[in-house]
This record gives sequence, structure tokens and C-alpha cells, in this order.
Amino acid sequence: MNSTVSAHSELEFFDTHCHFDFGDFDKDRETLWETCRTQGIRQMLIPGVQPDQWPRMQLLCANNPGIYYAAGLHPCWLEGNIESHRRNTQLSVLSEALRDQLDEQYCIAIGECGLDQYINGDADLQEAVLGCHLEIAQEFDKPIILHCRRAHNQMLRCLKAFPLKNGGILHAYSGSLEQAEQYWKMGFYLGIGGTITYDRANKTRSAVKKLPLEALVLETDAPDMPLCGHQGERNSPLNIPAIAGILAALREESVECIARQTTLNANALLRINERQLG
Ligand SMILES: [Zn+2]
Repeated sequence: MNSTVSAHSELEFFDTHCHFDFGDFDKDRETLWETCRTQGIRQMLIPGVQPDQWPRMQLLCANNPGIYYAAGLHPCWLEGNIESHRRNTQLSVLSEALRDQLDEQYCIAIGECGLDQYINGDADLQEAVLGCHLEIAQEFDKPIILHCRRAHNQMLRCLKAFPLKNGGILHAYSGSLEQAEQYWKMGFYLGIGGTITYDRANKTRSAVKKLPLEALVLETDAPDMPLCGHQGERNSPLNIPAIAGILAALREESVECIARQTTLNANALLRINERQLG
């Protein structure tokens, strides 16, 4: 890639958070990934939501070059996986299962895991499950993909209890500059997605202007989090260049510069080149 290119097809983007294994993509997954690659979206990380789904993700990555996955139990998927009354036994089963996944070729991170006070969940249980992921990330020195809604103080406290050498990504970052800076100081990149396409997201839009580009990665969270003007539609990894375009306009930088640095950031955090994955 040289600095004079302008066509998106010559840029290289990384969608660091796309639930590409979800049923929403069953009908057109393979052709959609081919189209993504022609548009410059050449790498993707699929976050795990529950153990049942992990083996399928391994297969999906093996068949589609440039796709990797993370193994995790999402706070919105605790039901059916971890129950309060059997918590200790189930957490040790989860911990074993996560350890096993780390031997799989395309499993390059832990997550998505975290805290969600937007849903009616058991906050203590969520914290115990998050702790289980953090412990493994710390022990195996793996990056972690965090989900956090309305629980940043609790999250920052948990992260202080498990300092990670290699941090991770705070997915779907939305909030104040001060919060973003606290995560960045602890080694967390901020996942920038559809939120910044909404005018009403003033705080987030002004924060992403001021953060160093070295702290940002791009994501769609597809099939969720549609861009402004597309509410109710399936979101797609094909929207990554549009998110990059809006970030570029907000920061008064070129799309080339955004694509290059965010892709470098994601590859450095996830240590993909070291692993020589297809
Ligand atoms: Zn997600």
C-alpha cells in the first residue's frame, strides 16, 4: 500500500468485532466475505458469546482466510450456561473449556465477556464470570474483548484487580474522553463503530477526535448496531469503510491514514503476523 491510493479496494481494513457466525449471515456468509475482501475488509475477529458456538467458529475461520475468533461467554448469554446455585462448578468447567480453546489455531483472544447493567442480570454473577476470563487472559497473556454497558466504574475496578500485560479492546466504545483515557492507560484499545455515525452521540464523537489514533480500532458489531439511517436493517462488515470515513471526517485525517493505523493497531494487539495465520 502506498500513500497515494484513494480507492477503498486498495485499503486494508480490520473489522475487530463482527458476529459473523450468527444465523443472520447463514444465507450469504461466504459471498459476503468475498465481497468484503474486494472492498479491502481483509481481516475480521468474531467474538465468542457462549461455549456451544466455539467449535463452529473454528471451522468458519479455517474455511475463510483472514477471519479469527475469540472464545468467551457474553454477559447476556449467562442463562443456560452459568446458574447462581451451581456457580463454582460451572465456572471451573468454563475455565477449563476456555483453556482448551487457546490451543485452537484460530482462537487468538479471550471474550467477548464483561458487564451489562442494561439487562436485568445478576451483577455479582456477571463479575464472577468476567473474573474467570480475566484470570485466563492474565495467565496466558492473551488480549481480551470487553463488553461494558452502564458499568464502567465496576469494570475499571475489575481490570485493576487483574492487570493485563497486553490489554485488549473495549468494544463499542461510547462515553467520555476521561473514561476512554482510563482504558487506554490500562492497555485497552477503543472499538469504534456505528455509534459515531449518530449526531446525538456528541460526547463520543468529540472524544474520538481527541484520542490518539494509536488507541483506536474499527468494528461493526454486525448484525447489530446499524449505522445512522439504517436502523432496523441487518448491519454488515461491509460498513467498515463508512465508519472509517466518518472517523476520518471527525478527526480531519484521511481515510488512508485511519485504515492503515487502525489495521496496524489490531494486528499488533492480536499478534497476528507472529502467528502467520492465513
Ligand atoms: Zn458483540
